[in-house]
Amino acid sequence: MSYVIDPPPRPALPVRGGGLFPVRRVYCIGRNYAAHAVEMGGDPNREPPFFFQKNPDDLDPSGRFPYPRRSRNVHHEVELAVALAAGGEEIPVERALALVWGYAVAIDMTRRDLQDEAKKLQRPWEVAKAFARSAPIGELVPASAIGHPSRGRIALEVDGALRQEGDLAQMIWKVPEIVATLSQYFTLAPGDVILTGTPSGVGPVERGQRMRATIEGVGELEVLVV
Ligand code: MN
Repeated sequence: MSYVIDPPPRPALPVRGGGLFPVRRVYCIGRNYAAHAVEMGGDPNREPPFFFQKNPDDLDPSGRFPYPRRSRNVHHEVELAVALAAGGEEIPVERALALVWGYAVAIDMTRRDLQDEAKKLQRPWEVAKAFARSAPIGELVPASAIGHPSRGRIALEVDGALRQEGDLAQMIWKVPEIVATLSQYFTLAPGDVILTGTPSGVGPVERGQRMRATIEGVGELEVLVV
């Protein structure tokens, strides 16, 4: 059987040193740094993690972020992205890192105005989180080259001014725990990408501004808001 329309291209991420990583799904964890949980009005304690999704083609390595229509308050959230080479269900914490192919610097762009409205009305978050090109992402670096980062500075500047700063060690749920917990609810598979939450200091961007996100030991990402 042949397709009745041309199949859409498979989203893929450039890898440092060459090659492409094909993306299947994008999962995100909310409120995974205590100081950010507090700034969002939440509990900084270790309450169970919660997850949402973006679309595979929302990941955007172009270095440009088109400001979305129908929003007036769009925030940056710098996050460590984790790319899986293998999947499964009910993965034990001790086996979780063996599934990880590599890491990247990403920004979970969020239409905060629409998210606030969705929270108030108890509606889902897709319009606030899973919009086109909502996840600028840098080149993927293999764990075989950098290991599995569990500490290191994570920061984001806008036009040279520091906005977000934290350390990967401040994650409430660590990468192996995130993978293990996700796999209790979803069947994970090769090509899945997980955004692991943001430190405090989230805030709005405007067209013409330049974001610079860095994660020690992983890389950096520059994105122009257009
Ligand atoms: Mn986020």
